[in-house]
Amino acid sequence: MTPWFDPTLIFIGGAWRPCASGETLPVTDPSTGVEMARIARGGALDIDDAVAAAEAALAGDWGVMSAAERGRILLRLSHLVLNHADQLAEMEARDVGKPLKQAHNDVIALARYCEFYGGAADKLTGETIPFNAGFTVYTLREPHGVTGHIIPWNYPMQIIGRSIGAALATGNACVLKPAEEACLTALAFADLAHQAGLPAGALNVVPGLGAEAGAALTAHPAVRHLSFTGSVATGRRVQIAAAENIVPVTLELGGKSPQLVFADADLDKALPFLVNGGIQNAGQTCSAGSRILVQREIHDTLAARMAEAIGALRIAPAMDDADIGPLVSARQKGIVERFLAQASPDQILAQAPLPDGLPEGGNYIPPTLIGHIPPDHALAQDEIFGPVQVLIPFEDEEDAIRIANGTKYGLVASIWSADGGRQMRLAKRLHAGQVFLNNYGAAGGVELPFGGVGHSGHGREKGFEALYAFTTLKTVAAHHG
Ligand code: NAD
Repeated sequence: MTPWFDPTLIFIGGAWRPCASGETLPVTDPSTGVEMARIARGGALDIDDAVAAAEAALAGDWGVMSAAERGRILLRLSHLVLNHADQLAEMEARDVGKPLKQAHNDVIALARYCEFYGGAADKLTGETIPFNAGFTVYTLREPHGVTGHIIPWNYPMQIIGRSIGAALATGNACVLKPAEEACLTALAFADLAHQAGLPAGALNVVPGLGAEAGAALTAHPAVRHLSFTGSVATGRRVQIAAAENIVPVTLELGGKSPQLVFADADLDKALPFLVNGGIQNAGQTCSAGSRILVQREIHDTLAARMAEAIGALRIAPAMDDADIGPLVSARQKGIVERFLAQASPDQILAQAPLPDGLPEGGNYIPPTLIGHIPPDHALAQDEIFGPVQVLIPFEDEEDAIRIANGTKYGLVASIWSADGGRQMRLAKRLHAGQVFLNNYGAAGGVELPFGGVGHSGHGREKGFEALYAFTTLKTVAAHHG
């Protein structure tokens, strides 16, 4: 698969060009370990140019474009994404190792974000406020200006859609720094946005290393909003950089999300969600349901059923489209292997065997279920970001809530139970930005506000809520006597 654009270039001001250093970075196929392309090693000079191009767009056509026209561009972009679905899916599958049908799902989600935010662009309104006699007071929702977007490698297209889609719908001009492991679809998206009629400079894409291009973007004084998805450690740095320039920041930093399974749950319905919540995208999902908390009386039954389901999972290179592909990088594989080494043999409740014939250089990890560990064990507390789940028993509702809320994270949670009262009671008490009752993930719903509490971050993306995050509110008070 050869991209229809030159991936060694960066996209600034509506045009392709080499980065200032002229240096490139390798793109490795995670399924094989073989270098498959090269991308630009953008740096501070390129970020300066990208920000200048974004400022020029705001001072030009983009800054005065009607909300309806911005929406039409996003709707055209949605169609273009769908027209390129096969190319984008293959590009992503080869680049990050996700099975082809998962990559296809990501393309559909990207198109849906463009559609949702395209339709919403001219629906965001201010309000009039009853005030003293002689005044008329109203509010205006205005773009921040230049927005910086730093995204990770696990769901590049979905995160581009939710972040760039909302920022463009509200009239910001964006500078996007994709993860060094996953730049191809970000560059493709910039090209499609250009084809859709997005004015030059409204979206600029600068691949490069986090410590170079990423740090330069977060530190740039002309960037007026930062949106970051990734690790807690980097999120902290981004927030510090935002504080230096006094700009708002949205942080989405992952989690250790619990799925609470009560004895009265419909296990036939729950089982696919319990397993898939942990292994989807080889567990490299910020909202992975990686902590299964189960009421003690059904612990052994659930352990046996999960072991059977996990044992039947198919693992293969991304393009073979199995249940699980490789992890994104040898580095990520090493991180997960070090976590697995903390489990003793009797704590491994289930592990799917790696099939013979997997490419030597691929980053494959067998899906694993771990049990017989206390809730404060590192395996039950830390985000592993691999196909590894833990099973922890609880006694009753109180115990379930104590364990569920007993990590530093709070991204999502689910409750599996037939008792409606219990669902309502516990949904209020869970520390999480999203709670699912008898489902997990709500099929990704682009309409649903998403984000965390605690070390999972703050601010909300997705849904209409993101339009508020990407605007600033101005109150106008007119005294007319
Ligand atoms: P990371 O946080 O280092 O990288 C995410 C993004 O931040 C990338 O685009 C990267 O280039 C950029 N970045 C890195 N350093 C930066 C800096 N100093 N300033 C600005 N931008 C910078 O994540 P990672 O190292 O790729 O993955 C490590 C761990 O992060 C994973 O094991 C996982 O736990 C977590 N993670 C979470 C998510 C999520 O969706 N929440 C996504 C990816 C990784």
